[in-house]
Amino acid sequence: MSADLTARLLAEVTARREDLVALTQALIRIPTLNPPGKLYREICDLLDRRLLKSGFHTELIRAEGAVGDSDRHPRWNIVARREGSGPGQCVHFNSHIDVVEVGHGWTVDPFGGEVKDGRVYGRGACDMKGGLAASIVAAEAFIAVCPDYAGAIEISGTADEESGGFGGVAYLAEKGYFSPDRVQHVIIPEPLNKDRICLGHRGVWWAEIETLGEIAHGSMPFLGDCAVRHMGAVVAEMEKSLFPALAQKRTDMPVVPDGAKQSTLNINSIHGGEPEQDMEYTGLPSPCVPDRCRMVIDRRFLIEEDIGEVEQEVRDVLERVRAGRAGFDYTIKGIHSVEPTMTERDAPVVGAVAGAVETVFGRAAEYVVSPGTYDQKHIDRIGRLKNCIAYGPGILDLAHKPDEYVGIGDMVESAQVMALALHGLLKA
Ligand SMILES: [Zn+2]
Repeated sequence: MSADLTARLLAEVTARREDLVALTQALIRIPTLNPPGKLYREICDLLDRRLLKSGFHTELIRAEGAVGDSDRHPRWNIVARREGSGPGQCVHFNSHIDVVEVGHGWTVDPFGGEVKDGRVYGRGACDMKGGLAASIVAAEAFIAVCPDYAGAIEISGTADEESGGFGGVAYLAEKGYFSPDRVQHVIIPEPLNKDRICLGHRGVWWAEIETLGEIAHGSMPFLGDCAVRHMGAVVAEMEKSLFPALAQKRTDMPVVPDGAKQSTLNINSIHGGEPEQDMEYTGLPSPCVPDRCRMVIDRRFLIEEDIGEVEQEVRDVLERVRAGRAGFDYTIKGIHSVEPTMTERDAPVVGAVAGAVETVFGRAAEYVVSPGTYDQKHIDRIGRLKNCIAYGPGILDLAHKPDEYVGIGDMVESAQVMALALHGLLKA
């Protein structure tokens, strides 16, 4: 690319700074809380108006029948496409439009979109309405400077990423929106920091373990069998053998933060005995020996690991407990899984964004892998599209926290990276 064209693209994005801020604010001011999945239609309508004005052809797609979709909380998505002046490849920017609950500890209005100290504040500012706005402004700036590009640009706003993406990217991928003959490059502007390229994520295996006992009167526990004590033995065995073993498994994936460069396991919850009563209930609990205790585990695994081995490792823990403990019985079932994924560093979208990062920041891009999954899993598994990365403004650690914000300078710079990457991929 000529130095002159680079300078024009960078300047065109910079000139749109106020517009970028205003768009981010407008997106934050629609509280698309998920769960339950509010106001998806409203935010899609806003994006629709904006992208139509910029010459995109738009489609509003409801993920009818998907997990979470209902008439009360319909899962609306938008896919916008703008053809260039000739045949070529398609670059797709995919952003999720949902945000997580607000939580406590805010000092600003979470849906006010307040601008302070060079930042835009609000729930979803960094995860990921700032990234969505940056990709739109980047595309518009690129189109203004290079109206005769070859190929196509797509921008999507999708539902439900925070709850698995089934009414969003998974649904669209099933309908062919990410098939390799339609889309060749995908950039997901998740908040991975403006100079880092996220190649993929670790794998996930969630399982529910239940220990079985026998109910009896609490004054005579010897007549029953306490499922909670059995579960205690499971936790003890995990502490003794499983957690140390997981800490030994290190990956060559560049996972950040450092603590996630190994296999991890979280105990999500343990529930045993009688259910907790409603707040209105003022009586005492009844005296019973718990006959069931249930644990949900969240195991994150590495690209070097096989999901079958991951499952077997937990079964082995349970079998070791059984061997040493009278009356111990359990069930285990997997409830959710995602394979790890990592795009190759020599993939075209990686090269284009890496080159653009170097131009904008004067240093090489850092390659990272996310500890948790995001919508790349559906693009990879259902869409069969491997040429996909996450790249966007915002600090990952601020996601889901109180006083979430996105830096305005970071948004501008990452929009510059996106505009240059568009140029690189569409050969304008
Ligand atoms: Zn996100």
